[in-house]
Amino acid sequence: MAVIWKPDLSGAAAEWQKKAEVLTEQHFAPLAEELDREQRYPWESIEVMAENGLAGLFIPKEYGGGGASLSETIPVVETVGIGCSSTSAILCALQLGAFPVLLAGREDQKKFYLGEMAKGVGTSFALSERSTGSDAAAIEATGVQEGGGWRLRGEKYWIGNGGASRYYVAFVKTDPAAGGRGISAFMVDKEAEGATIDELSDKMGIRGTQTSNLKLDIVAPEDARVGEHNRALKLAFQTLNVGRIMVAAQSMGLAIAAYREAASRAVSRRAFGKPIIDNQGIAFKLADVATEISAARMMLYEAARAYDAGRDVANIGAMAKLYCSEVAHRAADAAVQIWGGFGFCKPCKAERLYRDQRVLEIYEGTSEIQRLVLGRAIQKEAEDAASGKVAAQ
Ligand SMILES: Cc1cc2nc3c(=O)[nH]c(=O)nc-3n(C[C@H](O)[C@H](O)[C@H](O)COP(=O)(O)OP(=O)(O)OC[C@H]3O[C@@H](n4cnc5c(N)ncnc54)[C@H](O)[C@@H]3O)c2cc1C
Repeated sequence: MAVIWKPDLSGAAAEWQKKAEVLTEQHFAPLAEELDREQRYPWESIEVMAENGLAGLFIPKEYGGGGASLSETIPVVETVGIGCSSTSAILCALQLGAFPVLLAGREDQKKFYLGEMAKGVGTSFALSERSTGSDAAAIEATGVQEGGGWRLRGEKYWIGNGGASRYYVAFVKTDPAAGGRGISAFMVDKEAEGATIDELSDKMGIRGTQTSNLKLDIVAPEDARVGEHNRALKLAFQTLNVGRIMVAAQSMGLAIAAYREAASRAVSRRAFGKPIIDNQGIAFKLADVATEISAARMMLYEAARAYDAGRDVANIGAMAKLYCSEVAHRAADAAVQIWGGFGFCKPCKAERLYRDQRVLEIYEGTSEIQRLVLGRAIQKEAEDAASGKVAAQ
């Protein structure tokens, strides 16, 4: 029996996971080292994803997607992530861009953008800016009515799949005086006159992904708006609630890969006349990693199940993202330590995983922001209990 806890997958979840396993073995994992070394976006993998239904996995079937639930999606993200962290991040960024359209798009927007996405033509989520990431209400890009449309001006930054995606859901201030209640979202085509991508980030890890800026000085038509006018910050947060569960799945893929690297090295590397795993200092480290991965994975699958059941996942999603990403950090750290000097040098997989994991605690809300979300929820619950509004649990 495997040491790390495994979800009991059946039906569509098992089928998608099996498909992801085959594609990862054949296509994604063999590219992982090269993508990192060359900092190259794997266009060929996007084609494979599109041909096999992974690009639009989470998109409903009526729009050309795979119709997978979140519980059916996360085993795929994990499995791809075991083979290649960059490819699992790309897969997640594709689903993240789909979300605002899925949640708040008009029928014609869903048909067009989700249909494109299912074919592998990406839409990216463009909320962050150079001047602000965590404090999304403080974005500075603006949208001002001009003629029959909207003049969008500003620069969106750190866009996942940026440059590689054709379309962007750009969040801008349409009522700057109203702060977070004055933000709207618009669909932007990177081919639009006045839209430029002129900077690609040179990253520590997930170097096969492309992260870019998007400079805007364009006129978007009125019908490019997604969702309610001035209410897009809520839409961004709803999107991130799901995105965080996907990042938790990325984290688990990476953590399992790190654990396997560490365990296989611990039984094959000998020191003082015996395999290093014969030392409790090493065996206990692996025992802790295996326990943490199992606990984190249970939380991840429960968060996805809660989402599919229509429950509010703001808290459990924050917990899953926080815990799974920090477990991935500790698993990758243990792998480097167990690989010793080799773990510190390229081209050791443990070294790459150590760099790849770092962003999991940063994007889609840093660990501090997850703790902030949870801290506020705890405060509210305790205050409500104190005032007799609800019973403490
Ligand atoms: C590879 C990559 C891909 C990305 N993809 C996307 C994308 O597709 N779309 C997109 O919109 N954005 C994306 N981002 C941006 C990402 O979401 C932000 O980097 C992240 O939200 C943090 O924002 P920041 O970098 O501005 O840090 P800051 O907000 O400046 O925070 C700096 C530090 O201060 C801490 N901090 C801030 N406020 C508090 C507080 N109240 N209490 C305690 N600590 C606090 C933070 O936790 C962090 O440690 C991506 C980033 C990277 C690196």
